[in-house]
Amino acid sequence: MSELASIKGIGPKTIQILNRLNIYTIEDMVTYYPYRFDVLARTNLKEAYPDERIILDGIIQNEPLVYFFSKKMNKMTFRFDTGSTLLSVTIFNRAFLKSNLHVGTKVIIIGKYNPKQNMVVASELRLGMLPPNPTIEPVYHVTNGISSAQLHKMILSALDENWEITEYIPKILAGKYHFPEKRASILEIHRPGNNQTLHQAINYLKYEELFLFMMKMNYLKKNRVWENGISRKITKEQVDAFVAQLPFELTSDQRECVDKIQEDMNSPRVMKRLIQGDVGSGKTIVAIISLYLNFQSGYQGAFMAPTEILAEQHYQTMLRLFQNFPIKVALLTGKMKKKERNALLKKIADNEVDIVVGTHSLFSEDVYYDSLGLVITDEQHRFGVRQRTKLKEKGISTDVLYLSATPIPRTYAITIYGDMDVSNIHVKPKGRKEIITELYKNKDIKIVLEKIHEQVRQKHQVYVIATQIEDSDSDEVENVKELKEKFERALGKICKVGMLHGKMSSEEKDSVMQSFEKNEIQILISTTVIEVGIDVPNATMMVIFDSYRFGLSQLHQLRGRVGRGESQSFCILLSDRESERLSVMTKTTDGFKISEEDFRLRGSGDLFGTRQSGDMKFHLADLKKDFPILLHAKDDSMEILNSQEYADGKYFPLREIIEKSMSLD
Ligand code: ADP
Ligand code: MG
Repeated sequence: MSELASIKGIGPKTIQILNRLNIYTIEDMVTYYPYRFDVLARTNLKEAYPDERIILDGIIQNEPLVYFFSKKMNKMTFRFDTGSTLLSVTIFNRAFLKSNLHVGTKVIIIGKYNPKQNMVVASELRLGMLPPNPTIEPVYHVTNGISSAQLHKMILSALDENWEITEYIPKILAGKYHFPEKRASILEIHRPGNNQTLHQAINYLKYEELFLFMMKMNYLKKNRVWENGISRKITKEQVDAFVAQLPFELTSDQRECVDKIQEDMNSPRVMKRLIQGDVGSGKTIVAIISLYLNFQSGYQGAFMAPTEILAEQHYQTMLRLFQNFPIKVALLTGKMKKKERNALLKKIADNEVDIVVGTHSLFSEDVYYDSLGLVITDEQHRFGVRQRTKLKEKGISTDVLYLSATPIPRTYAITIYGDMDVSNIHVKPKGRKEIITELYKNKDIKIVLEKIHEQVRQKHQVYVIATQIEDSDSDEVENVKELKEKFERALGKICKVGMLHGKMSSEEKDSVMQSFEKNEIQILISTTVIEVGIDVPNATMMVIFDSYRFGLSQLHQLRGRVGRGESQSFCILLSDRESERLSVMTKTTDGFKISEEDFRLRGSGDLFGTRQSGDMKFHLADLKKDFPILLHAKDDSMEILNSQEYADGKYFPLREIIEKSMSLD
């Protein structure tokens, strides 16, 4: 049984919800930090300006009236007495609260005040009255089925249980920055006292996150110096001969990458290079040239893709580009029958295969390479630090090349990828048509449908993205299942509509993707599972519903699914909100610029995509806002790593957690 069950008010159902937030233990619970703090203090209405966020408590004066616009959209109104003023209150989509609200009910409302009409449009409504003194209230990220307030209550109960916490920050650093104790900081962050103590607690916990992260990065960097790699003897002529027979000329940036890679491979140091470049900028060919050079110098290569679909695509590309060479390429997939798989594993071990393509299964325990010399990981941000080290045990000091289509600004790249060399591909291959991006409000859906219709008439295909799989009460966003029905009704007569989402089995997903690739499906309604690297050149339109819900970098990734063929491609963003932020998308298709903008507008939260590897997921810290803290953490962690005390094992818990997270289980 889960230890969470011992906390007051937590039953099996709640445990399931908490698990979805990655909370499994009491320690997880108390270290589930709030992301924001609200100050609960009664607003003085006389001083409130129009549209100010106000907080009031008072008594309901009449039976609230509810009006339904649609199944999900409703509005409730009532009169409200604060003791000094009578106001009218409107709140949207809270009809489910009505049974608790009557004449005389005491409630707290948070919302916007309109003095002219003496009205408040509330965004939040709670039963009860405000405490006499202002209080600071932590706000938590939550999921369906639990509110921030409910979670807060559970965390407060958890704090009363027995829990252990390890201090990782060496005393010498804690002293340098006058940090409070970790236990005290955790208590403070969930139960804020005053601004100053809260601030100290937040600072410490942010520092801790960034420090541990930088410890890992610097650990990799430090250990890299000692690695003895393969010194190859690849000549310029060898490179040129292969490049010359490719179906196109390399762009200047691609050529520069190839030159750097040749240099890295010839050097006795292990190569660890990250290639950043937009979707479609031509990273794959750089990877393939590297695999060729690796083959020429007598080693096996492994090409690791984030999904099986992508692995298959890379496999096909290589079969094509290597057809005139004696290079044996194999695809290792999860679908293979045991016999087939074993036969392939034997070939890999016997060096009868030169290049293997697959997902992270390429490094499963039962895969042995005879002479692995180069590992390529596509969409690097999907793989954590741990996988990076895991590669090492499979070959002796293999060279590694990472490909990433989520470029990040240079200053951050140098810090975060401190253990790697970074190359950027800015220039796009010649002759590429810019994708036309347009922003529409939901009420213009007819125009959008017409545009989709037009693409289908021209025998092209369309992606449609929604954020949710199915209807949920708490959200007013479009979902895949309903959109599929709607599109079938609107366009089902002239084309086939398919859907793709994370709750489908991988066989189902693969089969839908294959139908789309074969143009048996023309409109594909999907969640962001299609985000990574899919290549269907006949798809010319990307339609994204509720696009305000995405970071710009993520929208950019999605948009990159189209514009891969000869025809003009389009991206349509639907949103009733945040049009200013989204308009950046209509102005540029340069991923580096978009990433800078994203960073400027929203901080680092979205920078690496929402499903990035766990290593860069910070609870409290924000790489942009807290960059100065990161820089301290960077220097401090290097100093600690290089210290005699660290070598002597004095920083035991710290050393243990770092080395454990880098180890190969
Ligand atoms: P990425 O992996 O960076 O998303 P790809 O390597 O898949 O991009 O390249 C996208 C498309 O552009 C592929 O069809 C590829 O063959 C083509 N391509 C790559 N480099 C060039 C080039 N220099 N000139 C013309 N086409 C290119
Ligand atoms: Mg790619």
